Amino acid sequence: HAKAQGRGRAEHFTAQLAAEIAERALLESDLRAAVEQDQFTLVYQPQVSASDGRIVAAEALLRWEHPKRGLCLPGTFIHRAEETGLIVEIGEWVVKHVASTIARWGAIGVEQRLAVNISPRQLDHAAFFRRLREAMQEAGAPARLLELEITETLAMHCSSEVIEAITALRADGASIAVDDFGTGYSNLARLRDLPLDRVKLDRSLVENVATSVEARTIAQAVIGLIHGIGCEVVAEGIETEAQLEVLRVIGCDVLQGYVIGRPMPETAFLGWAQAEPRRALRA
Ligand code: C2E
Ligand code: MG
Ligand code: MG
Ligand code: MG
Repeated sequence: HAKAQGRGRAEHFTAQLAAEIAERALLESDLRAAVEQDQFTLVYQPQVSASDGRIVAAEALLRWEHPKRGLCLPGTFIHRAEETGLIVEIGEWVVKHVASTIARWGAIGVEQRLAVNISPRQLDHAAFFRRLREAMQEAGAPARLLELEITETLAMHCSSEVIEAITALRADGASIAVDDFGTGYSNLARLRDLPLDRVKLDRSLVENVATSVEARTIAQAVIGLIHGIGCEVVAEGIETEAQLEVLRVIGCDVLQGYVIGRPMPETAFLGWAQAEPRRALRA
């Protein structure tokens, strides 16, 4: 009896594993098709200045319009894209589109920085920076309107080649931000030695600033340290007016989150930026 039960569980487990493997294979083949069939799109989330509420930048965020599953968020596929290496091709698509977006907005007088997320696997790829430069030149997009977001963990471990390439890009006018700060293990001495412009406080550091004195104290100390290494502070994932107010008071330079503006398709974003450039702050 016990044996039969054990066998039943094993069969169940095997079936589940098989289903997972099939699902992963399907996701991978769907991702390949997505690259070939241009199923990706970008949405844009505003970043505003903490001092006057003006829009200073936007972050480009990837979306996948899956023919059957509908709109997919990066959380459902980026990890698999990284595992399979497909992130390199997807990332190239993103970079090309970001370059053409910068140029298109420039042509209508919208001169905000556009930030783009770069995954570690892309930076491993030797051609990344060359392709990036080519894409910007071909589109006629000035480097000063480009910002690369690299994760804290990647920033801590990037090779001297990558640091060199980043330094060159910055010399052209582009900027570099460390994303998701507060989720990894950072060594500020190491961060200080990297060519960086901004550090983005992860949502986990922002979440409780309005409800917990401790969280506020920690955030304030972290902001001081980041300013101390010569970087601006961007707070991300701001969802309430109360968080927004605290983050302004404790010294964040740039604010981003649903309470200011959600990630939007291009037309909606441009409308938003023109209609209410200062909507974020009720000074
Ligand atoms: P991230 O770069 O840290 O981006 C911020 C994420 O938080 C975005 O999720 C954004 O939609 C979401 N967000 C913004 N404001 C709020 C808020 O007030 N509350 C909450 N709860 N969330 C907020 P999204 O678009 O799903 O992207 C998730 C992650 O996927 C990004 O995190 C980034 O790491 C990655 N990603 C997005 N686009 C790309 C891309 O083009 N290339 C690569 N390699 N990674 C990307
Ligand atoms: Mg980001
Ligand atoms: Mg982040
Ligand atoms: Mg992230």
